[in-house]
Amino acid sequence: MNRLKILMVASEAEPYARTGGLGDVMGALPGALAERGHDVKVVLPRYGVIDGPAHGLSVHLDSVAVPDGDGVTHAMIERVGDHSGGPEFLFVGHSEYFGRRQLYVDPATGKDFVDNDQRFAFFSRAALETAKVLNWSPDIIHVHDWQAALVPVYLKARYADDDFFANCHTVLTIHNLGYQGLFDSDRFDDLDLPDELAYAATGALEFYDQLNYLKAGIVMADKITTVSESYAQEIQSTEEFGCGLQGVLTDRTDDLSGIVNGVDYSIWSPRTDKKIPHRYWSANLSGKRMSRVELLGKAGLPIRDRSPLIGMVTRLDTQKGIDLVIEGIARLFKMKLQMVILGTGDEGIHQQLLDLQKKYPDQLRVFLEFNDVLAHEIQAGSDMFLMPSRYEPCGLNQLYALKYGTIPIVRAVGGLADTVIDYRDTQTGTGFVFEDYTTEAMLEAIERAVDLYARRQDWSRLMKTAMKCDFSWSASAARYEALFQSLSQTNSVARP
Ligand code: ADP
Repeated sequence: MNRLKILMVASEAEPYARTGGLGDVMGALPGALAERGHDVKVVLPRYGVIDGPAHGLSVHLDSVAVPDGDGVTHAMIERVGDHSGGPEFLFVGHSEYFGRRQLYVDPATGKDFVDNDQRFAFFSRAALETAKVLNWSPDIIHVHDWQAALVPVYLKARYADDDFFANCHTVLTIHNLGYQGLFDSDRFDDLDLPDELAYAATGALEFYDQLNYLKAGIVMADKITTVSESYAQEIQSTEEFGCGLQGVLTDRTDDLSGIVNGVDYSIWSPRTDKKIPHRYWSANLSGKRMSRVELLGKAGLPIRDRSPLIGMVTRLDTQKGIDLVIEGIARLFKMKLQMVILGTGDEGIHQQLLDLQKKYPDQLRVFLEFNDVLAHEIQAGSDMFLMPSRYEPCGLNQLYALKYGTIPIVRAVGGLADTVIDYRDTQTGTGFVFEDYTTEAMLEAIERAVDLYARRQDWSRLMKTAMKCDFSWSASAARYEALFQSLSQTNSVARP
């Protein structure tokens, strides 16, 4: 096996900074690749929210010169690395761009920071410059989502003649096509990129008179992956799933593949999870029953043994199908179940959920916050976990739910379709799956789950089947490795 030097560039990683699934993946995949013998470095922004001393960050490079518009801006690089062969994390410091408490959204306006285009262009270029200053020439640069999508663009446009990157190949992983990094075209001049990249119709960055960072990455990366096989197909098939980029994706179909995310079971396993009140495993579920009681207590809901408790942990965004829940809630609560929802996002959805909580005080509790411990407690204490997503690139919560014996009820879309097997197949079923994006279809699946919940023996058999599922990172990391290995054996694609 060829030991590869892999540079990963992403805007979040557990445990440093995380807003969603990307952070979970970046917390685990680098380690899984390092365990397979590769030399892995991860570049992240040094956000103000990262607790440097707690994580043991130390200054590595005082000053890295990063071309920025017409001049040069300096970044300070801090690092953390265990020296036992694990990945090294490098943090790009620039107090004006990253010394903030939020990653992407300005708390003062509730909207994206107005300089996100500059912040992440700078970050992408700083990642390349950091590798150079470290004199560490990567075989593979693996970039994630729009925030790092300009890395392959800069590489081809500005480092094409640089021998340092001569044997370097790029892979872009799309974690969610719904976020593309769209900016006004008049910001192009600040990017220090050749004009033709912004030409109407032909420019890689151009997208209906705007700049689209993700599109440019899709055009320029050597290979593209997304986080499940179904999602890789879906995004090429329709306008809705492709979010306007289906044509660009279809053009790259030979280079596009799906690799499902794994789970870091050192964080998400009820047998070892220190964030839950009582640990448990499939041969002894008493800890789950006690966790359920504690969760209901925390939620201020009455304890009703015969009413299943449904959990949701989710961004409150139309992607996640929360509109189906709101629309169907009266019929849902007729089924005598209870529900705990943890999430943040759209203010309008917050208000609707609070109104419903007032209406159903014994059945619904919403927590409108980002709370990692509570997310674990909900996984452990709930009987069922609901994900009625409109689209779902991979979804991690259903994978966590399976391990916690919390039966997922999911829509058959993207990674949900690839990872949950409907109970209609009683031999292998691990959850309840519905096809159509309608309240009726969702309620029908919930009803089937509630019916089975009353048949306690069948329910515990289902829980045990679910808990046996293994989505550990090793299989997924092996697939990334195979992709990287085959890519590293090809000549670097000619650069424009
Ligand atoms: P996405 O990345 O689309 O938000 P995923 O299911 O892939 O969805 O991953 C979501 C991750 O973020 C999970 O680890 C989940 O527990 C976590 N998460 C989402 N919302 C919250 C919240 N309000 N509090 C705590 N954790 C959350």
